[in-house]
Amino acid sequence: MSDDKSTPAQLDARNPWVLDTRELGRRAGLSRAVQRRLTVENPLGVPDVITVPQGAEVEVDLMLESVVEGVLVSGTAVAPTTGQCSRCLDPISGEVEVELTELFAYPDSTTEATTDEDEVSRLVDDRIDLEPVVRDAVVLALPQVPLCTEDCPGLCTECGVKWVDLEPGHGHETIDPRWAALVERFDENPANGSQESTEQP
Ligand SMILES: [Zn+2]
Ligand SMILES: [Zn+2]
Repeated sequence: MSDDKSTPAQLDARNPWVLDTRELGRRAGLSRAVQRRLTVENPLGVPDVITVPQGAEVEVDLMLESVVEGVLVSGTAVAPTTGQCSRCLDPISGEVEVELTELFAYPDSTTEATTDEDEVSRLVDDRIDLEPVVRDAVVLALPQVPLCTEDCPGLCTECGVKWVDLEPGHGHETIDPRWAALVERFDENPANGSQESTEQP
């Protein structure tokens, strides 16, 4: 994950996740509010568990603040999530909201000089890339065991049917597997017999 924060050689100004901080000015104390809807290019999260899917929009509401060491970005990001209940496997959808606070250090600042390369976000040509910051925060905030409801009873381990769809008192008699095979045969035979008898009137 630390790769995410390593400084790319250049940031594409046309990329909507990239903000230009030049308008902000370098005088400490200056600030600017930024609201954007950013489209997710690569799903955030764990596929088949829960993700902010590709094509979803992340709504960011940020304050950019010029500080001595760089630009401090703080605010919130809200994104839709889709996934699967880990107990009953039903599809689920929801929303994730995260708080962000990230210092993007100036290339010549003390922070930049004294912090490990993979531990600090940097300004590149006065631009900042929100993508890795939002990605890290969102991925951390996603539930590891997503559920459709807090008390989802899940599936019957014997037949795989959802408990909510089963009769109260549902259960399975435990039959020796060798007998189970015989029982199945037994169940099939009457059906076959009746079919044959209808074909031959
Ligand atoms: Zn469930
Ligand atoms: Zn069952």
